[in-house]
Amino acid sequence: MGEHGRNTAKPIYADIAIIGAGASGLMAACFAAVSPFKVVAIERNGAAGKKLSITGKGRCNIANSADLQATMRNIPGNGKFMYSAFHAMPAAGVIAFFEGLGVKAALERGGRYFTQSGDARDVTRALCGRAASAGAEILCGARVESIEVAGGGVAGGEAGSATGGEDAAGGEPYFLLRLGGGEGAGAGNRGGEGAGGRGGADAGNRGGAGGRSGAAGPAGLVRARRVIIATGGLSYPRTGSTGDGYRLAAALGHAIVPPQPSLVPLETAEEWPRGLSGLTLRNVGLKLFDQRGGQRFKALGEMLFTHFGISGPMVLSGSRQLLGCGFAGCAARIDLKPGLTREKLRDRIARDFDMYRKKRLRGALCDLMPRALIPVAIASAGMDAEAPVAAIGKSGVNALADAVKALPLTISGARPIDEAIVTAGGVRTPEINPSTMESKIRRGLYFCGEVIDVDAYTGGFNLSIAFSTGCLAGRSAAASLAAKPPP
Ligand SMILES: Cc1cc2nc3c(=O)[nH]c(=O)nc-3n(C[C@H](O)[C@H](O)[C@H](O)COP(=O)(O)OP(=O)(O)OC[C@H]3O[C@@H](n4cnc5c(N)ncnc54)[C@H](O)[C@@H]3O)c2cc1C
Repeated sequence: MGEHGRNTAKPIYADIAIIGAGASGLMAACFAAVSPFKVVAIERNGAAGKKLSITGKGRCNIANSADLQATMRNIPGNGKFMYSAFHAMPAAGVIAFFEGLGVKAALERGGRYFTQSGDARDVTRALCGRAASAGAEILCGARVESIEVAGGGVAGGEAGSATGGEDAAGGEPYFLLRLGGGEGAGAGNRGGEGAGGRGGADAGNRGGAGGRSGAAGPAGLVRARRVIIATGGLSYPRTGSTGDGYRLAAALGHAIVPPQPSLVPLETAEEWPRGLSGLTLRNVGLKLFDQRGGQRFKALGEMLFTHFGISGPMVLSGSRQLLGCGFAGCAARIDLKPGLTREKLRDRIARDFDMYRKKRLRGALCDLMPRALIPVAIASAGMDAEAPVAAIGKSGVNALADAVKALPLTISGARPIDEAIVTAGGVRTPEINPSTMESKIRRGLYFCGEVIDVDAYTGGFNLSIAFSTGCLAGRSAAASLAAKPPP
């Protein structure tokens, strides 16, 4: 019986096994589950879509209305790899797909589509429901620990495929997935949002999740004709993405571009941002520079101060541009008044000083910026907060305008990959066929989602990548089986 024979557990047979029931794996299940193929999505967590359910601060930024060219500009990590996947399911297709499942999207600033309900779990529930109604099974609480490729005659009559023994007839290679217990194994979870989530039980009743928990149990086996790796990256590991897919892919001969934190908050050398922790700045400008002073990023938008430095959408996107230079020693400049030129800002400050000429400097800037930032701007301008406004001359006004237009910060590092929204790096794109998502190294092996070396800025682009590659991988895996001549 060979190596596999040591395992006494009865294997589960699947035509297509999907490893990971997150955003991309669930979408793959929806498109792979074509009659008569048996599709099993294996999820280590007690419920599917744990990360998906917390996206967009719980509101899920599903996609972006940007056209294809603008979308490509928002995918700094291997955007070109995505052309076929976006053709298979463009952002408009993602929105239409979810609308068809009753999840409406609302367009917000920056072309961002969020769930109209404001509940990301609706997206998870819809995907689980669709996958289940198409006939896919979601097996929760089981972690794929290894994949072995076997067959080519070895299988013979020992165990036929789920749809009638193609192995026996054609000696086609097949995959053996060794399962260990995952989170919540044995809890009888029905996948989807799980019992803990709003309407989780309902999803199960509707057949929404259609999962069984830990059915294969530790040391169980899944035998599959096609495998889709949809395990995500390394960020937010508590949601289940701990980089297993990299290990599994590498063991099957794939090269992995070293994973790095992308869309990650930045730590600052200055202490003052910590004192402003929680303060959000809207409609400000941000520029990021490398250690040699070269400008790497420029944007207008929202950011916030934290107990370690700076974060928020603009900072997260900007951090992607500092990936190559190692973060430490880079610089940030915040423009608190991007709508005003320096000259206009000087005039504005002079007018305010006129109005508040009897006050001290610290009391004369309250119309210009949040109170908490006033001491920072004054210190940055090298001025005395207690100086009487009437005594401040033109050079003082100029210094203040300069500080307001370019509040300086020194980046001391990035937060760890655990806190990154997305992982850059992953399975090398030249080793994956972009038209099918099939491995060029192992026939029958497919990839989708963040495990691939593709990553984007904030704005809904990363979920679009997950959904589009999931759709294409699922559809291609099913088509490859359908294309096979009957045994
Ligand atoms: C806090 C946060 C907010 C975000 N908000 C947005 C947003 O609003 N819009 C947007 O576009 N992007 C957002 N993202 C990014 C987006 O969530 C991811 O890019 C996307 O979820 C990737 O999908 P995926 O299917 O590749 O991986 P995941 O969604 O991480 O799914 C992978 C699944 O595989 C399972 N798994 C892993 N290893 C195994 C194994 N060995 N066996 C079985 N199962 C396994 C995991 O448990 C997990 O469920 C956000 C990310 C975070 C962390």
